[in-house]
Formats: sequence, structure tokens, C-alpha cells
Amino acid sequence: MSTETHDGCRVCGRTDVGLKKDGTLRQHVHAAYKGSGFLRPGGSRCDGVGHPPKGVLGRYAKRVIANLLPYFSDLKDPIVADVIGEAVQRHHTSPDDAFEAILDGSANWRLKPDGRDTGRVRLACYRFNESDADQQRVQQINAALAEIRYR
Ligand SMILES: [Zn+2]
Repeated sequence: MSTETHDGCRVCGRTDVGLKKDGTLRQHVHAAYKGSGFLRPGGSRCDGVGHPPKGVLGRYAKRVIANLLPYFSDLKDPIVADVIGEAVQRHHTSPDDAFEAILDGSANWRLKPDGRDTGRVRLACYRFNESDADQQRVQQINAALAEIRYR
């Protein structure tokens, strides 16, 4: 059992759960579901299992940011990259249909849930007059995002 301390599970907040070698949380039960695991699909296992604790980005979220970085200069600011990365990680750990992360000052570019694959994200263009170049960028980046194999 790892004795490494961390800020707690991003889903249930437990800090008494050890980390695996890859830095993700070991098996544990969501405290709120203790004894009532039959009430939810997948049992009482916490959704945070296998994901990194609060404040730490998993490989999937890191790869998403790395793929977007060349196209969105705002992400060169580490604080912005962190906020977006954390939003992607949160969605990855606890998929949310309402997920949205805005990537630029004019909100033309946003990350939305990838409906084909729970907990993953896709790029969407909200520009009023979307150009061919915009559509190409969307296709190119989404193809790259779909290639990410890490959790
Ligand atoms: Zn948990």
C-alpha cells in the first residue's frame, strides 16, 4: 500500500486511499454508496478508481492538452492549460453530458463531450461563419483526439 499522500479522490474526496504505481487511485468504495451498491450500475465502486487524485492530470487529459497546444495560443499560459486540463480530467473521471470547455477568448472553439465514447472530448467550432479551414481543423484535431489510447 502506497503511503504517498494526495489531495483526495476527485469523485468522493477520500484521502485514505492508496495510489497505484502509475499514480492513480486504488480500488475503493464511494462512501455515499456504502451498503447500497445494488442501487447503481457498476456497484459501489467509486468512479475515481483508476484515475489520478485531485490536482493531478492523468495521461488522457495531458494528451488532450498536448494535442491542442499547437493550435490554441491561450493554452501556452500554464494556468489556462491547467484549468482546461482539470476540466477534461473531471469529465474523464465523471462523464457529464453538459461538459464544455472554452478554448479561446471569443468562445469560437470549445471542447464538448465526444458522444461516441463516454468521458472523452471532441473539439467543436462555434464561429458564426465557419470556414473550410475551421472545419479542417476540427476534423484534424478530432482525429488526433480519437487516437489517444490512455485513460
Ligand atoms: Zn473515490
